[in-house]
Amino acid sequence: MESFNELNLSKQLHYTIDDLGFEKPTPIQAKSFSVIMSGADMVGIAQTGTGKTFAYMLPILQDLKFSKQVQPRVMVLVPTRELVLQVVEEIEKFGKYSSVRVLGIYGGTNINRQKEAVMEGTDILVATPGRLYDLIISRTIQLKAIKKLVIDEVDVMLDLGFRFQLTNILELLPTKRQNIMFSATMTEDVNVFIHDFFIAPTTVSVAVSGTPLENISQYAYAVPNFYTKANVLLHLLKDEAEYRKTLVFVPNKKSADLLFTLLDEFFGSEVAVIHSNKTQNYRIRSIENFNAEKTRILVTTDVMARGLDLDQISHVINFDTPVFPENYMHRIGRTGRATQEGTAILLYTEKEKEAKEAIEALMGVTINELDFPKEVAISKQLTYEEQPQVVEINNPTNVEEVGPAFHEKKAKNQKENQGGSYKRIIKQKYKKPKTRGDKNYNKRKKGK
Ligand code: AMP
Repeated sequence: MESFNELNLSKQLHYTIDDLGFEKPTPIQAKSFSVIMSGADMVGIAQTGTGKTFAYMLPILQDLKFSKQVQPRVMVLVPTRELVLQVVEEIEKFGKYSSVRVLGIYGGTNINRQKEAVMEGTDILVATPGRLYDLIISRTIQLKAIKKLVIDEVDVMLDLGFRFQLTNILELLPTKRQNIMFSATMTEDVNVFIHDFFIAPTTVSVAVSGTPLENISQYAYAVPNFYTKANVLLHLLKDEAEYRKTLVFVPNKKSADLLFTLLDEFFGSEVAVIHSNKTQNYRIRSIENFNAEKTRILVTTDVMARGLDLDQISHVINFDTPVFPENYMHRIGRTGRATQEGTAILLYTEKEKEAKEAIEALMGVTINELDFPKEVAISKQLTYEEQPQVVEINNPTNVEEVGPAFHEKKAKNQKENQGGSYKRIIKQKYKKPKTRGDKNYNKRKKGK
C-alpha cells in the first residue's frame, strides 16, 4: 500500500500521522485495517518494530465515537508497564486532534490514584492483567461497555504466566465484542490459548523482513531422539574455532534447563541459558556475557530471544523443529546479519519431518541434508515425552507412585533464578536419573 489515503481515515487521524511523520502504512497496518474495521476477530503475527500498535489503533480510533460515558469501551492488555506507557503515549498523540480519553493501568504504583482516574472515565483502557484484575475485583472497573479487546504480545503474556489472569478477565467481559490479538511468535501455548477462547479468528501475518536467506547456509541432520540430538550438539560445539558464537534454540523452559545441564558438564562457563523463569538480572548477565564473547553458547527459547539485540552470531542451532515455520525464520534470522555469513543447523526427528517440510515450503528452499556424523553415539535413552505412553485408565494411583521427588521440591523451594548457585542446583538435580525427573514433571502436569 503506497499511502494512508487508501485507508479512508478520518482527518484527525491524518493530522496525527502527519505529525508522526509516517509516509505510508507498514505491511501489518495495511493488512490489519480492513479486517479490524469489518468487526472480525483477528490474530496478527508481528514483532515489535513492525508498527503493530498503530495496526490495531488506527481502525479502533477511526471507529470510536465521541462519548462521555465513564466505562471504557476499548481495552488493550499488554504484558508490561513499559508497554502500557508506550501505548498510552501513542494514543495521546491522536488526542491532540480529538477528545479521545485514554488511561494506563499497571502494577507497582498507588492503586488509589488509579481508582480515582478510573472513576473519572475513559474511552480506552490500557492495562497489565494483574493490576487490572485487582481493579475489577474491587469493582472499580466495570467491563460491561467493552466492545473491543486487544491482547498485545500474547506470547510474552503467556510466557510470563498471565494465563490465569487473562482467563479470568476474559470470562468477565461481555461476550459480544471484537477480539484482536497480536503475537510475535506463534507458539503451541499461543495456539492453544487462542483456540480455547476465540472462534476462527482471521490470521494476519507479515513476512519476516530482513531475513537474508542468501547469507545463511542451512543444514539439517536427521537424528532419532533428544539425547542423540544432545550428542550431535556436543560433537559440533567442540569445534571452538568454527562455533564462535552459537545460539541454540529449544522449544520450552524444561528442554532449556535439561540441555543446559548436559552442555554445562562439557563446556562449563562457555555456555549460558535464558528463559522466562530466570530472573531479569540473570538473563541480562547471560546476554552481556554472550555479547562480550565470554560465553560462546547461549541456549534460549523463542520468546526469550525475541527483541534481543545480538550481533555477529556465527551459528543458529535449532535443537527442535519449530511447528510454526515463521518461528524457524525468526530463529535463523539471528545469524547472517548485514553482510556477514551465517550458518543454521536443524536437528530433526522422524516426528518433526513434517514440520521441516513446512519450513522448506515457506522458504522455497530445501535445507541441505548432512550425513549423521560417524563419531557420534546414538543414545537409546528416551525423554518421558518420547517414551511409549502406557495409560492405565483404572489405576490413577499408579501415577503417584513414581519415586519421591525431594530433589524436585528442593529446587522448587529455592527462590527462583539465583544465577550461579541455581546453575549448581539444576546440575545436581539432573545428575539423578533423567527419566525420573521427567516423570515428576509429568506428574505435576497431571496433578493440575
Ligand atoms: P511498534 O511495532 O508498534 O512498536 O512500532 C514501532 C515504531 O514504528 C514506532 O516507533 C512507531 O511510531 C513507528 N511506526 C508505526 N507505524 C509507522 C509507519 N506507518 N511509518 C513509519 N513508522 C511507523
